[in-house]
Parts: sequence; C-alpha cells; structure tokens
Amino acid sequence: MEKYDVIIVGAGAAGLTAAIYARRRMLKTLVISLNIGGQALLTEQIENYPGYLDKSGPKLMKIMETQARNFGAEILLGYVNKIEKSNDGFKVISNVGEFESKTVIVAAGKVPRRLNVPGEEKFLGRGISTCVTCDAPFAKNKVVAVVGGGNSALEGVEVVSKFASKVYLIHRREEFRADEVTVEKVKKLPNVEFVLNSVIIEFLGDKKLEKIKVQNLKSGEIKEIEVQMVFLEIGHETKVDFVKDLVKLNEYGEIITNKLGETSCPGIFAAGDVTDSPYKQLVIAASEGAIAALSAYNYIAKKEGRAGIKVDWKG
Ligand code: NAP
Repeated sequence: MEKYDVIIVGAGAAGLTAAIYARRRMLKTLVISLNIGGQALLTEQIENYPGYLDKSGPKLMKIMETQARNFGAEILLGYVNKIEKSNDGFKVISNVGEFESKTVIVAAGKVPRRLNVPGEEKFLGRGISTCVTCDAPFAKNKVVAVVGGGNSALEGVEVVSKFASKVYLIHRREEFRADEVTVEKVKKLPNVEFVLNSVIIEFLGDKKLEKIKVQNLKSGEIKEIEVQMVFLEIGHETKVDFVKDLVKLNEYGEIITNKLGETSCPGIFAAGDVTDSPYKQLVIAASEGAIAALSAYNYIAKKEGRAGIKVDWKG
C-alpha cells in the first residue's frame, strides 16, 4: 500500500493551497477530490481574491492546480469513503484505492443543501438544479422556481429572470437574509412572483419535472404549481461521514479546528469551508490550507524527533 506523508481530501482553494505548502516542505502529498477547483469553479465574478484581477474562478483554480502539480503533488479524482486510524497514522479508503498516510488534511468544503422531499432525488439534474449560475440558460422561455431567501437565491432570481418566462421565488419565511438592495431589485422584476412562508413538499412529473406541491406554513394550504425547472439555492452543508467518528463536529456538522488547523484527532487537520471558522471566503480557505499543511509538517517533524517550524515566539 502506498504511503504518504499527507493525504488531502478535497481540491478547492484550501486543498490545493495545502498541497502547494506541503510540497514546499517536501512532504509526499496525495490529493483526492471529486473535482479540481471546488466551489470557485462556479463563479466568474471573483473580485476579492488579492493579487488576481482576472475574475474567473475556474482560471484561478487552474493556476492553483498547476502550482500544486508543478511542486509534485499527486492528484486523484475520486471520493474518500472512510478514514481509519492505522499503526503509524491513517488508512484512507477511497473508490480509487486504499492509501496509508502519516497525516490527513480534510479540505472537503461544502455541498449544496437539499430539501429531502419526495421526488427530489428523481429530478436532480432533470429539472432540479443546485446552481443557478451554471444552469440559468437552460431556463430559456420556461416557467421556473427558485427556492431560498439568501443572497444566492435572490441573485439567482435576478439572473434566471432574464431567461425564464416566469419565476416563482419560494421562501419559507417573510424576511430575507439577502441584502435589502437585492431584494428591492428583485421585487421590481415583472416576471417574478413571491411565494412566501412556503415550502416545496413534493416534486411531481413523469420523466421530466412538471409540477411542485407547495405548502403554506401559516395557513397549511397545499397547492400545485406547474414548473419545468427548480433551482435550489438554500445554502451549503458539509459531507464528512468519512471522518465523523474521528473528529469532533459542531452543531452544523463543521469540523472543529483551532488556529493551527488541528482537529480533536492528532494527525488530522482541517481547512476551508468544512471547518467551524467563520467568514467562508476563498482567501480564508486558501490561508487555512497553508496553515494546515505547515501544522501537518510540524506534527510529522515532532513525531520523528526533528525541529519543526517555530510557532511559539516567546522563547
Ligand atoms: P444562506 O444565506 O444560508 O441562505 C440560505 C437560504 O435558504 C435561507 O433563506 C434559508 O431560509 C433557506 N433554507 C435553508 N434550508 C432550507 C430548507 N431546508 N428549506 C427551505 N429553505 C431553506 O445561503 P446562501 O444564499 O447560499 O449564502 C451563503 C453565504 O454566501 C451568505 O453569507 C451570503 O451572504 C453569501 N453570498 C454572498 C453573495 C454576494 O455578496 N453577492 C452572493 C451569494 C452568497 P431561512 O432564511 O429561513 O433560514
């Protein structure tokens, strides 16, 4: 079984930066990820990543991937099923093989949240989308619904209203989390109808999505609305089943870390949106990736009796 110094789960900004920093410290590094680039792949409007004026998320992530590969990181496309403790570190069991590693960095990010109602699984990718930015053009001349009350949903409505003939905005409350300016803009769009205090309780259709069953949470009334597409923009959540028996999570399923990216399990580090740190931002994810890699290096150095990188400047 191949043995690594560090295995990084996830190849978004956190994972790729961790790989760059791990390789700079000559750690034998493997990255396993479902995609290369993570959430930034879905945005063409990055205006706040320091030193980068291009704006394209995919281009920025390609640069990070190239940097990581140039420094010698191995990257495998796949998913990790389980991480187990082994004699001298961890066994990482994935659909692309089993690997041993002295340390693990979990940088698995977050995935779009689902409603978990009947019909959702059947129509995902066939009428239901979790990304307005990616799929809005498919709504051309269609009647669609967008679910959610945050910035993603409201900005999503704005985008999709340019393609669709009609857009229902379905939100479970009356107040919005989105910026007031955006809400006001959306209220003025002629082809948008607000369906508030309401949730989708079922997706209906034969081969394609045809209707949604919507319940008003105040009156209890249930009605059916004909739609050809639904965009779920209800936030993101972690998927950390593969490591949840080894590390402590907070109430939102995020991995609890300290300033050094250390988790409750020595040898396992975490970085980026998967952690409990606030302000989910690309630049923060990248910084946490760097910290986790340096901490992994220090962990290995200490275990092997070598001097690590100084973290305490008092003495
Ligand atoms: P969010 O702010 O967490 O909003 C998620 C929305 O989905 C909330 O309105 C929530 O309702 C609703 N929701 C959650 N679970 C639901 C469920 N099971 N059923 C029905 N509705 C559900 O997520 P986001 O809009 O993706 O934004 C995430 C972060 O990115 C935020 O900080 C946001 O400001 C930021 N962001 C910023 C921009 C920008 O600045 N241009 C653009 C996009 C996102 P409740 O309100 O009732 O909880």
